[in-house]
Amino acid sequence: MKKLFLTAGVAAALLFNSCSTVPLTGRSRFDLVSNDQVLPMAFQAYSTFLNENKSTVLPASNAQALRVKTVGAKLISAVKSYMNSNNYGNLIADYQWEVNVVQNNEKNAWCMPGGKIVVYTGILPVTQDDAGLATVMGHEIAHAIAGHSAERMSNEMVAQGLGSIAGAALSKNPQVQSVFNAGYGIGGQVAMLKFSRNQELEADRLGLIFMAMAGYNPQNAPAFWNRMSAASAGAQKPAEFLSTHPSDATRIAQIQKYLPEAQQYYKK
Ligand SMILES: [Zn+2]
Repeated sequence: MKKLFLTAGVAAALLFNSCSTVPLTGRSRFDLVSNDQVLPMAFQAYSTFLNENKSTVLPASNAQALRVKTVGAKLISAVKSYMNSNNYGNLIADYQWEVNVVQNNEKNAWCMPGGKIVVYTGILPVTQDDAGLATVMGHEIAHAIAGHSAERMSNEMVAQGLGSIAGAALSKNPQVQSVFNAGYGIGGQVAMLKFSRNQELEADRLGLIFMAMAGYNPQNAPAFWNRMSAASAGAQKPAEFLSTHPSDATRIAQIQKYLPEAQQYYKK
């Protein structure tokens, strides 16, 4: 009984001392891992991914790559300026933003913690235009800014009894490393986390705001998600992106509800 009490006390203390605030939504999220710990893992994973896919990474001179990088640069610049002028600069101070386009038929895109972005050419016919591209990239950047992978990692660490590992030992711990790698599917083809439903909705909400800040009309976002849904409907195997980003009617209805808030950030 006493042991149970202490354990609960320790757990409560852990929870109390281990929360971060998500920018814009203000949600308090569980957080055992800092940027100091997660970013080096992400940078390593990104560089491994680029090495393993070297032959399919489009050169900067490629027209498709140029277009994606241009939209990415606008989003990054808007996010940076918002974060720096709203006391969130510390969350992105160690980011090393980078956008790469990979020749791959998968309808996919992702942004690792630290601002490491990949867009697959397979999703470009679905994004169609710059606003569509800004929708998907804004959403993925939002996962990073909201610290969703750190949150998922923290939960997974507690589940595996790794909650007490702290500081420098954390990023060197092989079990923690494997929690990170498993989350990103490192070693597999797709480096993408499976986020929770609430994290997806939060990324949708922030993503709309980020695209609006970057000068893209968020009113275009629902059409992208509808196209994504339609593109996957006839496929034998649903797009990997949709297995992690279910584009159902409920979600699109929720996105519609977020639009008026995002519209306030849209400067024509
Ligand atoms: Zn997502």
